[in-house]
Amino acid sequence: MQDMSHFLHVCFILFSFLATISNAQSNQFKGSKKYEGSSNLLDLEYHMGPILTSPINLYIIWYGHWNPNHQSTIKDFLYSLSSSSSPSPSVSDWWRTVRLYTDQTGANITNSISLAGEFIDSGYSQGKYLSRLSIQSVIKNSLSVKYRSLPLNYKNGLYLVLTSSDVQVQDFCRAVCGFHYFTFPSIVGVTLPYAWVGHSGTQCPGVCAYPFAWPKYSGTPGAHKGIMGAPNGDLGTDGMISVIAHELAEVSTNPLVNAWYAGDDPSAPDEIADMCLGTYGSGAGGGYVGQVYKDRMGNGYNLNGVKGRRFLVQWVWDPVRKSCFGPNAIH
Ligand SMILES: [Zn+2]
Repeated sequence: MQDMSHFLHVCFILFSFLATISNAQSNQFKGSKKYEGSSNLLDLEYHMGPILTSPINLYIIWYGHWNPNHQSTIKDFLYSLSSSSSPSPSVSDWWRTVRLYTDQTGANITNSISLAGEFIDSGYSQGKYLSRLSIQSVIKNSLSVKYRSLPLNYKNGLYLVLTSSDVQVQDFCRAVCGFHYFTFPSIVGVTLPYAWVGHSGTQCPGVCAYPFAWPKYSGTPGAHKGIMGAPNGDLGTDGMISVIAHELAEVSTNPLVNAWYAGDDPSAPDEIADMCLGTYGSGAGGGYVGQVYKDRMGNGYNLNGVKGRRFLVQWVWDPVRKSCFGPNAIH
């Protein structure tokens, strides 16, 4: 049956500070209960499946109409994941926490993520409204067109579909900001891990570009929690960066949805980034993102990247510390 529960990994969009608004909402969106250190976070387990231990060849599919500046921001973030040249705390320092996860053989998540190819789907091959399933058709199209198609890399390929701000995706802005899953042989021919993330700039920045924008119904943030400027100048893009990071961390540790997750229900797992939604620095909780840095313009960031870039990226669950962690933590 193709119901929604088959599309695993949902980035739940309600942050903990909304949990008090409505109990009904809390029940509907389990993500609203994610507090750092709360007891339901303690059952993260390895379910014996594979993880991404080989160097990852990442393929981006730019779906829709993209601003080249926004594309550069996103690519610089991806280059930063494996770069050793950025000052600490860096994006590659952040990835080190993801690398702590191992498989049955004791092998860790790879430290190598290369941008191996890009495909531009500016003709909206599957239209401007995408169902979750049709994301797989976007991937199939990128592999099968005559010109400049992406390689079908079933050994170490990871496909990242990024939709522009004018593209609507099923559940986008309502239940999800991004998700990851794997392709079905009946659509794509093979099983490939992939992730999708949408640009929320015009559709729902208050939901998917938090904390650069706030939900309309959440009221005005308190003085010390003021709305944060986006470090690369576009809140939709800067918001995407953290969601991309979230999905890359989760697809690497749970690519076939049978490896690292918490909870008894594999159709609705809590994965390593779900457990730390809304946490970007020490002391986070209750709507406070935690201690982060401000650049000269007053924009918030917590990680350094290549070319002097700065990014604000949520923390992930650290299996050794047994808490959410990022390299900007204050000891
Ligand atoms: Zn997630």
